[in-house]
Amino acid sequence: ALEDLHCIGCGAVIQTADKDGVGYTPKSALEKGLETGELYCQRCFRLRHYNEIAAVNISDDEFLRLLTEVGNTNALVVNVIDIFDFNGSVIPGLHRFVAGNDVLLVGNKRDILPKSVKESKVRNWLRERAHEEGLRPVDVVLTSAYNRDDTLDLVDEIENYREGRDVYVVGVTNVGKSTLINAIIKNATGDSDVITTSRFPGTTLDKIEIPLDDGSFIIDTPGIIHRHQMAHFIGPEDLKLVSPKKEIKPKTYQLNAGQTLFMGGLARFDFIKGDKQGFTGFFDNHLMIHRTKLEKADEFYVKHKGSLLVPPREDDMETFPKLVRKEFAIKGKSDIVFSGLGWIRVAKPAIIAAWVPEGVDVVVRKSLI
Ligand code: GDP
Repeated sequence: ALEDLHCIGCGAVIQTADKDGVGYTPKSALEKGLETGELYCQRCFRLRHYNEIAAVNISDDEFLRLLTEVGNTNALVVNVIDIFDFNGSVIPGLHRFVAGNDVLLVGNKRDILPKSVKESKVRNWLRERAHEEGLRPVDVVLTSAYNRDDTLDLVDEIENYREGRDVYVVGVTNVGKSTLINAIIKNATGDSDVITTSRFPGTTLDKIEIPLDDGSFIIDTPGIIHRHQMAHFIGPEDLKLVSPKKEIKPKTYQLNAGQTLFMGGLARFDFIKGDKQGFTGFFDNHLMIHRTKLEKADEFYVKHKGSLLVPPREDDMETFPKLVRKEFAIKGKSDIVFSGLGWIRVAKPAIIAAWVPEGVDVVVRKSLI
């Protein structure tokens, strides 16, 4: 029977009737999937093969319903965010939905922070940014889904703050929520891989309840797609460049005013005015950084994007947004944060411009070092 068939991507029950519904699979694909043993719902199939994000209306509505449910429950809300992409991690209006409930802010992917970065500064920055979004977290905890001790500590923190209540884990896709929940399940209960994880945004659909000792639950909710993440603008083979797997090794570039750095073709940094200085880039170790003259940079980009300046690759060019420019006058030690990509540390006064794909955020913060 159909109700016994699940999508191997998201776990949704396969159905062939409602095109817009969760688990929809065309009949032909169903037959093929049964033959090959690889049965995906249409949404996951598209994500896997075309890196195409299915219409978000469904998940947006579904997500609002869920958030409302959370707001109506007496629970601890654990909001998982990506330390490298605060802006791309924001759930719009979360503070209104959680109403009186406590929120614990969990910054994931701590393992990619270089040792030189002070974690207390990271936490302070995350707290400040949360306040700007109207959220008043009871605490800010940094963790790594890849580190067993971190996940055990996180479980302790959650235990500490939940005070007997259920726990709702919320987060937009790509922050590493499924990986983190899997790690919690594995390390705290011994069962591994309860949920699917993937590099592909938006593949966790079902609400999952993890029983706790006292009859309460940790409830994992589906992620909502945040359309302005860097991850959505590049092909699957390049996702690792915006989701580093290893500790970042900072690289310093000595620049004179009038020089430009290209981070692949994804972002650009212009040093417009100021004394010669070293700018330190904190990006995935494999992201290619090219230096060029500012006056030639526009031309250079047009000529080399998709070839020398990758990602985006040639195939992604059509849908890749244009880079938009923001100028900043930097007074003291600051980081220019390219949301979801990394940051550049500016040590001395300078006038600079940062370019990012339209929709992606770029912000300045006090240096984390
Ligand atoms: P979800 O959409 O929020 O459920 O995100 P996933 O769990 O699918 O993770 C998104 C990407 O981030 C995957 O490539 C994961 O391997 C990666 N990831 C998840 N947690 C961590 C972490 O703690 N550190 C690092 N470096 N990467 C992580």
